[in-house]
Amino acid sequence: MTKILLKGRTLPELQTIFEEMGEPKYRAEQVFNWLYNHKVFTFNEMENLPKSLRTKLDEKFSLLSLEKVNEEKSGSSGTTKIIFRTGSGYIIESVIIPDEERATLCISTQVGCPLDCSFCATGLMGFKMNLTPGEIFDQYALAQASYEKPITNLVYMGMGEPLINYDSTVRSLEIFSEELTKGISLKKITVSTSGIPHKIQELADTNLKVKLALSLHSCFEDIRSQIMPVNKKYSLKSNIEAVKYYASKTDTRITFEYIMLKGLNDHPEDIKALIKLCRSVPSKVNIIPFNSLQHMDPTGFSGKLVPTSRRNIEIFASKLREANITVMLRDTKGDDIAAACGQLAIKEQKFI
Ligand code: SAH
Ligand code: SF4
Repeated sequence: MTKILLKGRTLPELQTIFEEMGEPKYRAEQVFNWLYNHKVFTFNEMENLPKSLRTKLDEKFSLLSLEKVNEEKSGSSGTTKIIFRTGSGYIIESVIIPDEERATLCISTQVGCPLDCSFCATGLMGFKMNLTPGEIFDQYALAQASYEKPITNLVYMGMGEPLINYDSTVRSLEIFSEELTKGISLKKITVSTSGIPHKIQELADTNLKVKLALSLHSCFEDIRSQIMPVNKKYSLKSNIEAVKYYASKTDTRITFEYIMLKGLNDHPEDIKALIKLCRSVPSKVNIIPFNSLQHMDPTGFSGKLVPTSRRNIEIFASKLREANITVMLRDTKGDDIAAACGQLAIKEQKFI
């Protein structure tokens, strides 16, 4: 008999499971605590459950999730990379990026990605599999267990498109939203999407109120379609409508992520269009220096992409600031959250 996966179940789901087993309701809370606060990997470790129940659970359910296989610290920036193996044997990694008062963890929702953005190493790797809600949550749980300071912020910006793996993404957020879960509140979580409008609306309607980042990269449909094939299916226009809805429904500001690509999205008319867009949506802009794909030996269009020079990035950012747009621009390329996460696992080709 195949065991049913228990890791990744939300509290209401656990309550239903235990009710159906004829167990008291508080057992669900106890197991929830073991799964998401104490991070145990076997039923036998759940000490406050009767032995007979532990055996019963072990016969029926599995707790399969991630296994931590390695950890690497970069001396200069303090960035810590944690490498995990999934239940099905793929290697993924999460990155902790510290700054003065925060430590942000970047996590993945898929192994690879089917959306094939021309600037993205994950896209070049293709799609391998969706992560389960337990695997998404455990990147945080295991990273925190091996990190000396509290992880204060979480960004869903690693490998994969969270809104394509919508159910797992939302379930993992529901686990974070549960009062019993210690550590991170939803206000400190950002989900980044390349733009799947109906899912953005669905996420808004969940009332989870996480922060949303839209990978914008151009305000023009033709350029955006050229670098992000998903734009041909879900236009920028439909995404802008969706993020406006998201911002008003959740009372949050949207982050527009903008990778600077020489000659493609760094012209004066791009600044003008971006200012116009930002004035129509409660938002801020996160300018990201393009992290080279050369380690992937890209061919065709991807191989021709070149980063905008640092000087021109700074001019671009200052023009936006002059127009009173909130702009984030990180100092060191390697430290940038988006550039630092997701991209590195692929570089090492450690997946099977
Ligand atoms: N699929 C989601 C989330 C993962 S990608 C999305 O596209 O938003 C997270 C961020 O990394 C996105 O903003 C993406 O555009 C950025 N990114 C991808 N490749 C990059 C590269 N080569 N250099 C810098 N940022 C990159
Ligand atoms: Fe997928 Fe995001 Fe990379 Fe595009 S940028 S290929 S959506 S992970």
